[in-house]
Amino acid sequence: MSGKIGFLGLGHMGGPMAANLVRAGYDVLAFDPVPAAREQASEDGATVVDSATAAVADRDIVITMLPNGKLVLDVYAELLPVAKPGTLFIDCSTIDVADAKQAADQAIAAGHLALDAPVSGGVAGAVAGTLTFMAGGTAAAFAAGLGVLEVMGAKVVHCGDSGVGQAAKICNNMLLGISMIGLSEAIVLGEKLGLSHEKFFDVVSTASGQSWALTSYCPVPGPVPASPANNDYQPGFATALMSKDLGLAANALQANGVDGRIGRLAAEIYSRFNQEAAGRDFSAIVTDIRKRSGEEPA
Ligand code: NAD
Repeated sequence: MSGKIGFLGLGHMGGPMAANLVRAGYDVLAFDPVPAAREQASEDGATVVDSATAAVADRDIVITMLPNGKLVLDVYAELLPVAKPGTLFIDCSTIDVADAKQAADQAIAAGHLALDAPVSGGVAGAVAGTLTFMAGGTAAAFAAGLGVLEVMGAKVVHCGDSGVGQAAKICNNMLLGISMIGLSEAIVLGEKLGLSHEKFFDVVSTASGQSWALTSYCPVPGPVPASPANNDYQPGFATALMSKDLGLAANALQANGVDGRIGRLAAEIYSRFNQEAAGRDFSAIVTDIRKRSGEEPA
């Protein structure tokens, strides 16, 4: 596989994603301000450089995997003028739809191609190269990026124009947050009414209340052995990340005039829970609902 890639943001997700590109034969220049992240990338075979601009020189594709939209816009402002004309900028971070559109507009205005390509699948998917990518951008940008996205992921969906990849990500995660809260309220109500977790699962997993949150990620121990509830709610998908994504969804609801009362309420519930449980899996919300319902946490 040929192709010169610059990779910025070698954290929990970006580190293993860059490693998979190296393994597939790409020439990867990598940068992160954190020394430990740079050392790991070097061990994984990337060529580590000491500045963001050095990671962009002479590259065909620049990939960013950063914590938030402000950083993406700051990094783009620094890099767009120094990248060679026609470079494809792919941002895989989860950021605000408006920020994603702004980043893409600026890249295109500077003579480049741009894709927003947020992911689902978590650290395990990043390590295994089985992420799902939700891409937004022109057909030309998608065609230019598909090869590298397929190295890092098992599924790549072209969702629409710039920002629409981020739209798919926050719509999905808003629904997941809402369904985890609803499921957890139903479980705690069942507990109060004498319904065991096993019988709850037996009935609801094949009835009209069925959801992915229940059948793949059950928030109480027992019915789904691999779910974080069986491992003291070690993430998995941390509450801090769910709270971030619901905040992005709440912004988008507001900006687009959507009467999204449940989505906004889910953002409030996870924002409050995040103050005490940022590092716990988001399914631990069931323990909070139980505690606030007058029961001791499990
Ligand atoms: P992380 O904090 O582990 O990694 C982010 C990295 O970006 C850090 O190593 C940081 O030092 C680096 N960074 C900051 N400023 C930089 C700059 N100017 N140049 C280069 N690197 C810079 O975060 P993560 O868990 O890897 O998540 C990254 C993104 O992926 C986030 O937007 C997150 O919402 C999203 N995401 C995470 C998961 C997950 O399970 N962790 C799942 C899906 C999506």
